Amino acid sequence: MAPAWHNLRMRTPSTVARPYAALLSPLDLGPFTVPNRIVMGSMHTGLEDHPRDAKKLAAYLGERARGGVGLIVTGGFSPNRTGRLTPRGAQADARTLRTHSLITREVHEADGRIILQLLHAGRYAFHPLAASAQWGKAPITPFRSRRLTSRGVARTVTDFADAARRAMRAGYDGVEIMGSEGYLLNQFLAAQTNRRRDRWGRGAEGRRAFPLAVTAAVREAIGPDALLSYRISLLDLVPQGQDWEETLALAHGLVERGADVLSTGIGWHESRVPTIATSVPRAAFAQVTAHLREEVEVPVVASNRIHHPLVAEQVLASGQADLISMARPLLADPQLPDKLAEGQANQVVACISCNQACLDKVFVGQRASCLVNPRAAHETELVLTPVKERRRRKVAVVGAGPAGLEAAVAAAERGHVVTLFEATGELGGQLRFAARIPGKEDYAQALHSWRMRLPAAGVGVRLNTRPSAAELQSFHDVVVATGVVPREVDLPGFAPTTEPPAAGPHVISYQDLLEGRAEAGRRVAIIGAGGIGVDVAEFLTASDPSPTLQPELWREHWGVADPREHRGGLLLRERPAPAAASGREVHLLQRRTTRIGKDLGRTTGWVHRAELRRAGVIQHVGVTYERIDADGLHITVDEQPRVLEVDTVVICAGQVSVDELAGQVARARSGRTPRVHLIGGADVAAELDAERAIRQAVDVASRI
Ligand code: NAP
Ligand code: SF4
Repeated sequence: MAPAWHNLRMRTPSTVARPYAALLSPLDLGPFTVPNRIVMGSMHTGLEDHPRDAKKLAAYLGERARGGVGLIVTGGFSPNRTGRLTPRGAQADARTLRTHSLITREVHEADGRIILQLLHAGRYAFHPLAASAQWGKAPITPFRSRRLTSRGVARTVTDFADAARRAMRAGYDGVEIMGSEGYLLNQFLAAQTNRRRDRWGRGAEGRRAFPLAVTAAVREAIGPDALLSYRISLLDLVPQGQDWEETLALAHGLVERGADVLSTGIGWHESRVPTIATSVPRAAFAQVTAHLREEVEVPVVASNRIHHPLVAEQVLASGQADLISMARPLLADPQLPDKLAEGQANQVVACISCNQACLDKVFVGQRASCLVNPRAAHETELVLTPVKERRRRKVAVVGAGPAGLEAAVAAAERGHVVTLFEATGELGGQLRFAARIPGKEDYAQALHSWRMRLPAAGVGVRLNTRPSAAELQSFHDVVVATGVVPREVDLPGFAPTTEPPAAGPHVISYQDLLEGRAEAGRRVAIIGAGGIGVDVAEFLTASDPSPTLQPELWREHWGVADPREHRGGLLLRERPAPAAASGREVHLLQRRTTRIGKDLGRTTGWVHRAELRRAGVIQHVGVTYERIDADGLHITVDEQPRVLEVDTVVICAGQVSVDELAGQVARARSGRTPRVHLIGGADVAAELDAERAIRQAVDVASRI
């Protein structure tokens, strides 16, 4: 019997001569050689949708090429109007691609290589022209797709070839065909979405005919000297997805028709298994790529949650893949490859796989950026120019949460003389709490990055220090990033204490709980069901350590199986009865009558809602809080009084700004200095948002 793939562990490289030797080694892809194994995977930023944004797209991609990326894959461009993702979405038409010589020139001038991705959305299109293998509606769009006629399928093949020809004329080094993630080509491959009886369906061979025809036509269109990459779905993670034999038959067919590289995609967008969220274990799917690598002669690319260079190095060194696709990590740090090559790995700005500023934005039609690098996809607008020595200013940054940390680093990197003051003994502010939530362990990497970047940028750090307004007068600029404190609620009996009372529930703040200053009992009520209330519910119910740190448990948790044994890599089974791994009974309450978790991130909110259901968290909406007394938490719902007999009440009712220092410094000011800048939660506490805080920090740093 084949060993269970989830039992195979990544081997630590023993023959590695220098750090990142595997990641930094060149590879001959056929048409050309790439200098390292880092592929910037396709990721839509929103800049692809308008030809007028070509200059911005060129600046964004050019910066990554200058940072040393071996091969860049653009966001997806549809070969025709039907396949656009949105009504005005990106299309590889003549008008758009005429502007792309700007992009290819910028990348080539930096000695980079770039290929255009062709993506037909099929039934994932968000418009009434949607078309697919059959009539139907995907669960993630409101539009029903029409069935392509047999002639329509053949015409789509031609459209792919024509678009590929235009890409070559625009100067691209090749093309990637998007055949995974549940888009059109993938829809033709799965029995669930292709029940056609013509030559484009009828059994696995017929279902393969369309992707193979597209590949052959594209190869012919681009000629033998251009790179052809095909993004193949290795795990569909939907019922009636492809089985492993079908996947391998497709892979062999693609290579026969001229694919130089197979890039591996995991999971359809409608799949109910998270594949890129931060709660997915690192390199969770690399072993499936390894199975493909054993079967084909062309290089294979591993992807999904290979977000850290060390993880990437392990995947390569253990022979699981030939190349690593990193999209989000290169949004976070465009210089990542060069930093590794120059022995500056500790200076890499870590992507924390939060999706907050990138994919969550794109899915609501906004331009992507990055939580930890607000310049991503805004390179021409948010510019950090070095300052001349005589213009250097003395800058005090007060508060070392995300806003203060980034302001300090960004200002110091420009050349200013920066001192960072922090009242506590630790850096990180509210972000420290996030890193304690099960499934968000990688948030700690952002803090690690700042810890490494502060000394390198020359920032003087003074912990356990609260500077007075008078002491700050000697600075030219004072950046007040003093953050927030948890909001107290106006409720009879509300009395937070560190020690439990003699009778009745122990009232604590989320901060006390997450910092370990207070413990929760077996029965807990959480007041406030915003992002932090949901996080606290998961904290109180999850196993310890979390499934994110136990890949086998995580696969079991989400029903991910060996694709060689289970069709589509999905374990079809009865849903287990809801239960908290911790054994706790947890109530999550809010005053609004809306669904709990409705405002969480577009790409990850459903994961959190699923976790709450699975853990049996009892959700109450439309709640009026009455009082807390020895019997418990008294509430009214639908005019019915209730008592929740709980041991602990955790307050997660948002935050209020701590901003007094800004006024004090301004009032104490003599003459024109210091200038005062108020940023982050200290500026706006409502819907406290690390992305907004960090963007504001970089913006202020760019203007000092
Ligand atoms: P929040 O999202 O503003 O939620 C605070 C909750 O407390 C609200 O849902 C509100 O609901 C309730 N509340 C407000 N005032 C109250 C009062 N006086 N008495 C009782 N309840 C009150 O704040 P948060 O949960 O602290 O999160 C802060 C920020 O972090 C959020 O903006 C969020 O974007 C971010 N975050 C996001 C995630 C995620 O996306 N997974 C996770 C963590 C944090 P009702 O008024 O309806 O009761
Ligand atoms: Fe990574 Fe979050 Fe930045 Fe997206 S927004 S690139 S997931 S750190």
